[in-house]
Amino acid sequence: MNPKVSYPNIGLPHKIERLVELAYNLWFSWNDDALELFASIDRQRWEQTLHNPVQLLLETDSAAWNPLSKDPVFMESYERVCSHWDTYLNETTWFQNTYPAHLQQSIAYFSAEFGFHESLQIYSGGLGILAGDHCKSASDLGIPLIGIGLLYKRGYFLQKINQDGQQQAEQIIYDFTKLPVLPVLNADGEELVIQASIADRPVQLKIWQARVGRMSVFLLDADVEGNSSWDREITAQLYGGNQDIRIAQEVLLGTGGVKALRALGLPTAVYHINEGHAAFQAFERINEQLSAGVPFHVALEMIRASSVFTTHTPVPAGHDAFTVGMIEYYCSSLFEKWNNHKQELLQLGQGHGNQLFNMTHLALNTAAMRNGVSKLHGEVSRDMFRSFHGNIHEQEVPINHITNGVHMPSWLAPELKELFSRFLPGHWLTDQTSGTTWKSLELIPPQSLWDVHTQLKEKMIQFARANLVEQYSRNGLPTAQIKEASGYLSAKALTIGFARRFATYKRANLIFNDLDRLDRLVNNPERPVQFLFAGKAHPADQPGQEMIREIHRISLIDRFRGKIVLLENYDMNMARHLVQGVDIWLNNPRRPYEASGTSGQKAAMNGAINFSILDGWWEEGYDGSNGWSIEGNNDADPHTQELENTESIYTTLEQKIVPLYYNQGPLSTDWIARMKRSIQTLAPVYNTDRMVMDYTNKAYVPSLKRTLLFVANQLDLVTKVADYKRFIISNWHHVHVLHVKDESSDNDASPVLATVPGSAGSVPEASSKPAQPLKGVTAQIAFGPIWYKDTVVEIVYYEQREQEWFPVVVMMEPVQELLDRVVQYHATLPAHLEHLAHYKIRIRPVSASFVSSFELPLFTMS
Ligand SMILES: *Cc1c(COP(=O)(O)O)cnc(C)c1O
Repeated sequence: MNPKVSYPNIGLPHKIERLVELAYNLWFSWNDDALELFASIDRQRWEQTLHNPVQLLLETDSAAWNPLSKDPVFMESYERVCSHWDTYLNETTWFQNTYPAHLQQSIAYFSAEFGFHESLQIYSGGLGILAGDHCKSASDLGIPLIGIGLLYKRGYFLQKINQDGQQQAEQIIYDFTKLPVLPVLNADGEELVIQASIADRPVQLKIWQARVGRMSVFLLDADVEGNSSWDREITAQLYGGNQDIRIAQEVLLGTGGVKALRALGLPTAVYHINEGHAAFQAFERINEQLSAGVPFHVALEMIRASSVFTTHTPVPAGHDAFTVGMIEYYCSSLFEKWNNHKQELLQLGQGHGNQLFNMTHLALNTAAMRNGVSKLHGEVSRDMFRSFHGNIHEQEVPINHITNGVHMPSWLAPELKELFSRFLPGHWLTDQTSGTTWKSLELIPPQSLWDVHTQLKEKMIQFARANLVEQYSRNGLPTAQIKEASGYLSAKALTIGFARRFATYKRANLIFNDLDRLDRLVNNPERPVQFLFAGKAHPADQPGQEMIREIHRISLIDRFRGKIVLLENYDMNMARHLVQGVDIWLNNPRRPYEASGTSGQKAAMNGAINFSILDGWWEEGYDGSNGWSIEGNNDADPHTQELENTESIYTTLEQKIVPLYYNQGPLSTDWIARMKRSIQTLAPVYNTDRMVMDYTNKAYVPSLKRTLLFVANQLDLVTKVADYKRFIISNWHHVHVLHVKDESSDNDASPVLATVPGSAGSVPEASSKPAQPLKGVTAQIAFGPIWYKDTVVEIVYYEQREQEWFPVVVMMEPVQELLDRVVQYHATLPAHLEHLAHYKIRIRPVSASFVSSFELPLFTMS
């Protein structure tokens, strides 16, 4: 169902009236022809509006339309874009082909920020861009996804850099009626307003619809008449306020988001939360179930089954947490209504002995499917949440990973799309996740790829110069220096880009640790290297702003002037120019703080080569031949790591990167071969089509199926599962190991086998291991009222492989029921392992309805 909207009357002639439809669908943001169509209406205004087609249409003098509709060049391009748009809408999609049975249910995707396009600055960095790219690929693939977010009147700030290198946060004040969003209307054609609760009072919310190709994102807005002035400010700014604003935003996003889905009548089966900010969705859904008379434990089980949680934060301090008092206050209407469940609700956000209510804990407790955003981040997250899961081994913690990607049509340069279209198979963009698609890159003549790359580099340099000239003019620099800036940077020099949020862990100033060595690189007359830096620091982040001042100061030192430049106001537009125009994309975060990182993925598909710390996505993307790594001892203290990483950066530049770029003269075929190798190996994997397919296959569809099974027949199965869990939890204390016996400690006749039989865990390959003597182990386990078949009994020991210890899990088989619900189990183990010293016996509850082996964080060890 598509909610009712109505376009404003712009007075376009009939022949070009579909411009409105195109302007109000962010599909334009990933269609080069559509962007060019709007730009061609009025290039100056197009730039002034930050490429906002709605504002452009609204502000263009109506006298301009008739001549345009008679201009054959414009009309030809208009027709082409409309026809392309119609084709897009009518294509059969991947989801339709793959999951025809699941077209009727939707997946709601909650995120505090969305980065679709520079004209809608409701993102701060990677998290938001990822959410935007997720939606765009969902549209391309036909996934029935619905986005839920907030519409911030002041967006995220515009960045100016003053003459002292001080970042100045300039407020945006959006007039929503000039953005590519439309208010959702009710059946009477009036703006739909829903009601959520903050503390003990109702808050009215308007709902704005951003159309993103086939899908929609609904953005909540608290700036509604009738709300108190404090409440009207809740959605004023992304990450703008104090903890009170923050929690109020999160309450609105989570609970208001669910209410919006209901008001819109959208049948939603799965709820995906992008980071913990939206975890309060669970509170609202529990409230719904309780109101319908469903017992608390059943409600919780149902919410868990239908929730997917993606965590993005690799350090404990990065997770949102509030005092319990704040939760009690801001969720007071919920607690008043369900006073008898207040402790259970609060428990959902509290770890053991933890005084704060942690949004990540809430998310983990209410989502059965959880994932990190790269392979390494998956490991880091499992390790971080081990104690949360009763200190099981890291590998057993039920958090997986789905590595981030980027939306190729949005980030790949139009010039490269054209080149690829000439050499890659016909449907290369639709088939971007196939490795074979990219094999044909070999066919592109090196000179052709280099020409396009040089063209993009020149375009980027023009963009950078304009940015600097504006910055310097505003800051009142001498005319001569402003003039000089319009000649800064050279398309012939090896060009390195570094742009992202200036968060301290990203260590933007690492390269400046040895200015003389940097000087020799930058000012080598035959082999010059130049750097472009850009990024915003959060207005409250003083160390981040200090980094900006440092880069600014260095960029003005004579020997670096015009060769190390700092651009202001990093946004998606600038990001596109940079990732498309540089030779090298540099990323040197402190490992493992970069959960994934995506800017390097944008750079890679454009033929820029990554030079990065083996952190986040690059730890799995780098294969030794498709870029360069920055080395260092990952276990050393931060200062040592910094020194080692810096040394690695300089050495690699001096000995590998600069020579490869320059050794063969103006056309380095070796360099171009590496560009191709980078595109070939990385483009098919690190895109959001692959990522969204992974989410669909691994999380959405399994959750959807499980949820539908759970709720069928008046909640029959979910009630059974919830009752079962409750029974297990309250009776688990009866389960214990009574007796363990190593049978064959003094029995020479023990069998000799090459592998460990009956193992449920990762067992070493038979061939890789010499035969070892085995022994039998028996254990007597008491179960009390719990049926032994509702558990598994296993032996856990550790084995060292390649410097690391891995758990080996051996299933024990029940062999005999003794008296009084005591069961005897048996297994075979390598003979040298001794009970308690080397191995333990573990009992854990199981059920076919569990998503993971440690769904109930209960187990007994002995
Ligand atoms: C891609 C992108 C990011 C994310 O960059 P990382 O290097 O992955 O942190 C941040 N901001 C903008 C504007 C981007 O386009």
